[in-house]
Amino acid sequence: MSFATLVRNSIKAIASPKTTEKTFDAVTFDGAVMKTYGRFPIALERGRGCRVWDTEGREYLDFVAGIATCTLGHGHPVMIEAVTQQIQKLHHVSNLYYIPEQGELAQWLTQHSCADKAFFCNSGAEANEGAIKLARKYAHVNRGIENPIIVTANASFHGRTLATITATGQPKYQKNFNPLVPGFHYVPYNDIAALKEAIAHLDADESQVAAILLEPLQGEGGVNPGDRDYFQQVRQLCDETGILLILDEVQVGVGRTGKLWGYENLGIEPDIFTLAKGLGGGIPIGALLCQSHCDVFEPGDHASTFGGNPFVCGVAIAVCQTLMRENLLNNVQSRGEELRSGLTSIVKQYPTLFSGVRGWGLINGLVLSSEAPVKSIDLVKAAMAAGLLVVPAGPNVVRFVPPLVVTAEDVQEALTRLTEAIATLV
Ligand SMILES: *Cc1c(COP(=O)(O)O)cnc(C)c1O
Repeated sequence: MSFATLVRNSIKAIASPKTTEKTFDAVTFDGAVMKTYGRFPIALERGRGCRVWDTEGREYLDFVAGIATCTLGHGHPVMIEAVTQQIQKLHHVSNLYYIPEQGELAQWLTQHSCADKAFFCNSGAEANEGAIKLARKYAHVNRGIENPIIVTANASFHGRTLATITATGQPKYQKNFNPLVPGFHYVPYNDIAALKEAIAHLDADESQVAAILLEPLQGEGGVNPGDRDYFQQVRQLCDETGILLILDEVQVGVGRTGKLWGYENLGIEPDIFTLAKGLGGGIPIGALLCQSHCDVFEPGDHASTFGGNPFVCGVAIAVCQTLMRENLLNNVQSRGEELRSGLTSIVKQYPTLFSGVRGWGLINGLVLSSEAPVKSIDLVKAAMAAGLLVVPAGPNVVRFVPPLVVTAEDVQEALTRLTEAIATLV
């Protein structure tokens, strides 16, 4: 069967959702796949827009979007067209040669951000690894620092490789994996006094601070938005000392916050930033971006076999162009306001269960109160039973990260299903 036929057939299947004859067997799955994930007991097999269907034919509103990844939702005509076109033309050749699509994506990203240069890889962790290497080389070459330190925040999340679990300021991701990578130090998030004190201590030591690595809004750590004053003071501190400011935009970049980049919510620009999740709309791609003054990599310094191949770059360009052409940033702002307003009403209705709502654009957290008799996972399960997919961000926060194409009707229906779910818990 040709790929085009396959795609056409799958569109037909999506257009007329029905239960498949084959039943999914979780026991067989678990017999063959490593148990790295605590999976929910459903298997998803079809999607359209903001809706997905499981193997039993049950429909769900998808406010997870592959964890803030499916920018254009499921089965978007632009994605289908871009995937089909690019696979027919050329999909992979390696970086031994020039790749026009890679150049075009780099140009789009640098023209629409504070960055001047881009490097492409396959995931958020890999993008952050690249940022760590770039900052270390910059410290060695431009500042003569022997033992560069990268300062990160408590409750942060930067990925699952050895360097990025070390950068991640949450001990639960590091347990049993020591020895960790040297050269990291942690500070409380949104606390400028603590940051200044830490830097003074480290610099008095034989080591020196090379970079500060922060998320504009902490996603996995509980949907904690960065404080504008704090980030402006961090920027000023970096300008005065030569320390590089690296922003991990893996979860919030590419329109998720209602601005193209998370840093626009803070009124600052980073020296280096990283992207992944939303950039390819669900196709695996990561990117490391920097301003020209920290563009210190030379041939041989860094590489990735799959990184920036024609396939992923062709699709990512289509996603980025669609974001602008369809004015999705406006949609993100309006739908985000509607969602937060609905969630705020729910908080008022159940004051013993919830303590608040926080977020930007279409990354929002419903915060459980300290006396709530349930945890975020319990509400996530209840919502799933009511036909709504949401995801925990730590034990006390339920995260809402729908596709950026979500409609006003989808938002209202999600709120209705969430209200049904809460009713089963109280
Ligand atoms: C998801 C995430 C990562 C890791 O991305 P992977 O693609 O899973 O490696 C890094 N940083 C942030 C902020 C993330 O949300």
